Amino acid sequence: MVKIIIFDLDGTLYNSTEVYQKFAEAAYYTYARIKNTDIEQAKDIIEKRREEMRNEKGFAVPYTLALLSFGISIEEWHKENINYFNAGDYLKRDEGLRSILVRLKEKYKLAVFTNNNRIQTERILEALGIKELFDYIFTYENFKRIKPDPEVFKQIIRALNFKPEECMMVGDRYYVDLLPAKEQGMEIFEVKGPEDIAHLLNFL
Ligand SMILES: [Mg+2]
Repeated sequence: MVKIIIFDLDGTLYNSTEVYQKFAEAAYYTYARIKNTDIEQAKDIIEKRREEMRNEKGFAVPYTLALLSFGISIEEWHKENINYFNAGDYLKRDEGLRSILVRLKEKYKLAVFTNNNRIQTERILEALGIKELFDYIFTYENFKRIKPDPEVFKQIIRALNFKPEECMMVGDRYYVDLLPAKEQGMEIFEVKGPEDIAHLLNFL
């Protein structure tokens, strides 16, 4: 029986082409600054690498992994994107989502589990007006590992002190959020964005 619902953040609790675009720009900027190139060169290099990695892995890779493949650490990337923009500036309160989460919270504990950093995560959750609804917020800083690394799923289950089958992972990327959760014995629920979260009310 599910006792806790664990949500991915980006593309799951909000969808925003503006925020996505800003993260992309921040990644080009980070590469350009650290490797001493101009922004256009950085963009070509990073997008080419993402394409190669996508062909190799079979799924679209986040900027974090593309930058990591050039030796740019996750810590450096987070520091740069935190300074580059405030993701909360591009989002607004989502009353529909909030009311669904409030209803889910009557029955379940709620958590966020994201590869994003603590500062951008809090900016986003505050802008959406849902931050205080979560009992747990796991960001990169908690375990210093990123999805789909199976180890981070194990550590979360341990930290929560629930059985895997009592945890439901909700996410928009099957290979990143859901397959590794399923492999640990968690329940999974795929969404295309926040508009699908309402379906959880029927499912649970
Ligand atoms: Mg996502």
